[in-house]
Amino acid sequence: MPLNVLVLGSSAGGGLPQWNCACPQCVAARNGDAAVPPRTQSSVAVSADGVRWVLCNASPDVRTQLARHPELHPRALRHSPVSAVALTNADIDHASGLLILREGGAPPVYCTPRVERALTDGLRVLPALRAYGDVHVRGLVPGDEAVLRDRAGDDLGVRLRPFTVASKPPPYLLPLLTAAEAADLHAGDTLGFELRAEGSPETVVYVPGVRDLDDALRERLGRASLVLIDGTCFTDDELVRAGMSTKTARVMGHAPLDGDGGLLAFLDGVRGPQVVLVHINNSNPVLCAGSDARRAVEARGVRVGMDGDRFAVG
Ligand SMILES: [Zn+2]
Repeated sequence: MPLNVLVLGSSAGGGLPQWNCACPQCVAARNGDAAVPPRTQSSVAVSADGVRWVLCNASPDVRTQLARHPELHPRALRHSPVSAVALTNADIDHASGLLILREGGAPPVYCTPRVERALTDGLRVLPALRAYGDVHVRGLVPGDEAVLRDRAGDDLGVRLRPFTVASKPPPYLLPLLTAAEAADLHAGDTLGFELRAEGSPETVVYVPGVRDLDDALRERLGRASLVLIDGTCFTDDELVRAGMSTKTARVMGHAPLDGDGGLLAFLDGVRGPQVVLVHINNSNPVLCAGSDARRAVEARGVRVGMDGDRFAVG
């Protein structure tokens, strides 16, 4: 059986259009410009059997995302095909959707102890959810392949090997961390996922946030059949130059696509997998069909991911 992959949301936090943004791309998306279609926030669903699905991140748009896809609709009076949630980090745009999944008890949540701490003591999503029913948090250990199971403990046929990547802890967690904890970018604040269907060696690598591109990541991507990776910003300073923020992409924990040390140059050293950009910020010019940036990405054989994209691997 292949691993089915469904891109629920291809945008970074804020989505496209972002609620408080009047940049040219948000305005175009708001006005229905076909070159800049709207996008929801970062999440991917995977399934080995096409029936039971695992959400990789739960975005604030999860309600809309589930409504869009019939295979994610309930098949009984109170039921959901969403059988588990796995979190790559505790960012608000990846974890606050858990609050939308509360009725009847949230699905099991797979995350690292560091992310569990963020959601317990920082965002307090887990204590809030527990007021509505049991929440099963199941630990992810970087390097160890996990057998993903539903709430009853049944094997979903999906295997997940998490690995740490250097990005940054969520800003709301920083006041709770010591300086040494905050400086350790491999403490489990940010993961990439290597996913496969049971019985298949073919892997999907999902990395929606990564700042430091290293040889270990290059080797892992090179072994994959499909890569869904961080396309947050095209240039490191695009938000600064546009007057939207004082933060560069790297300060926010993301490698830019373009330039020396950027993701596109890094991907030149990766042979084999289909590569799809996800977690794309509304400032990124690749979101506009026909832009120079879109052409530069596509000329390298890299796809700009879109809500509703489907893949099957294995
Ligand atoms: Zn905007």
